[in-house]
Amino acid sequence: MSKDKSEYLINRKDNQYEVVIGLEVHAQVTSESKLFSTSSTKFGAEPNTQVSLVDAALPGMLPVINEFCVKQAIKTGIGLKAKINKRSVFDRKNYFYADLPQGYQISQFKDPIVGEGKVILDMPEGQKEVGIERLHLEQDAGKSIHDLDPKNTFVDLNRSGVALMEIVSKPDLRSPDEVNAYVKKLRSIMRYLGTCDGNMQEGSLRADVNVSVRKKGSKEFGTRCEIKNVNSIKFMQMAIEYEANRQVDLIEDGQSIDQETRLFDTKKNETRSMRSKEDAHDYRYFPDPDLLPLEVSDDFIEKLKLEIPELPDEKKKRFIEKFKLSPYEATILVSDYETSNYFENVIKKSDVKLATNWIIGELFAALNQNNLEITESPISAGNLSKLINLIKDGTISGKIAKIVFEDMMEGDKDPKKIVEEKGLKQESDPKALEALIDKVIDDNREKATEYKSGKVKLFGFFVGQVMKVSAGKANPQLVNEILKKKL
Ligand code: ADP
Ligand code: MG
Repeated sequence: MSKDKSEYLINRKDNQYEVVIGLEVHAQVTSESKLFSTSSTKFGAEPNTQVSLVDAALPGMLPVINEFCVKQAIKTGIGLKAKINKRSVFDRKNYFYADLPQGYQISQFKDPIVGEGKVILDMPEGQKEVGIERLHLEQDAGKSIHDLDPKNTFVDLNRSGVALMEIVSKPDLRSPDEVNAYVKKLRSIMRYLGTCDGNMQEGSLRADVNVSVRKKGSKEFGTRCEIKNVNSIKFMQMAIEYEANRQVDLIEDGQSIDQETRLFDTKKNETRSMRSKEDAHDYRYFPDPDLLPLEVSDDFIEKLKLEIPELPDEKKKRFIEKFKLSPYEATILVSDYETSNYFENVIKKSDVKLATNWIIGELFAALNQNNLEITESPISAGNLSKLINLIKDGTISGKIAKIVFEDMMEGDKDPKKIVEEKGLKQESDPKALEALIDKVIDDNREKATEYKSGKVKLFGFFVGQVMKVSAGKANPQLVNEILKKKL
């Protein structure tokens, strides 16, 4: 049940207020091993089975940086059109929590690996640029499990030490819809790059959502609250809506906003205060003495640039120019890598216009209905392209194609075989059609006379009748031609 965008009513009170949002997205780096240890990062393993001495922070253990994770972060930076910093520093962010055995998180503070960049959003009103402040590498903490036992909390350290990229946006977002588009675009870019799978159910992508409100036209930002660790786009949107309304209420009531860290209660659909906002100095950041500053050469970065695939924005441009797609169609087809691949495979051997319509229309609807991803599509790109060719060369009509399509959804069958087996071939023999049409006219003498005396609207009736008598198989174009002559 997704909410219609008009349902996010932030600016009640005559639309006087504007909401300002900045996101800190935590994206798990796609990597087989952790940021500073060789333990596996595989999801769903038994608790505490993927924990090395480093991850459990036994005294005397030393972290060793995983070069692959560094490459992944730099690639992501390139994908965000961002400045790559050749020298970055790992810092200790100190805090106490049961699932953080080190007593600090290794993160990057003053000198992150990636600096300013940007992400382009395709909104219905047009394109919008969102600034990226920075991207830094850090370790994930373990997981505290509170709901297994009424008296005890359990700690699972499998996640401890897993590499995260924290991607911090500028406060450039202005609505829940833009947040939706932003997170999706970010995820799409990282999936194209293979640097984060973006799986929100498994926690590979979470965000801290910073929200403030201000009177429209105001140049200054309001005081923000940070809603921690939201793990679905819908929850982000709901949390923003609730939070913005709460802040507007306070301001209208003459009160001020306290800068706070809040959490979103998904059951009650409200945000609640966790603590007053901690400042950076509360964490006593300092460079981790166990790790040297991270230095990368121009050559290292240049080599990674060669590994960057065509990204969604560039692919969209190509689809529009080369295949004459509308911006809307192109945006949809490039939104994820697999869909764009599927599309390109279908059109290798079939008509682009028809392929576009069939993928965006029938295929997406059918996949959606069956809760399937494009990679799980029962209809292969090859067979969809065959179906399209059957329509194109007049073997079947678009209407009959839908019946064949439904059959194909049951299992990847060759559409030609379905057409043959079910006798669905379009009737394009003029003689046979004439006979059909004669019969229809004969059975509807009165209407035929009315038509001849000027009631031209009845033409559609006759077409309908012929299609009905032919069980949808008559070639509509020929039916039109012959009917015109005969009437
Ligand atoms: P911190 O590390 O204390 O959370 P940052 O400067 O890193 O602070 O900013 C965190 C996030 O807050 C950024 O995504 C930024 O865009 C956002 N942000 C900053 N000011 C505001 C504001 N007034 N309203 C909404 N978001 C804001
Ligand atoms: Mg923060």
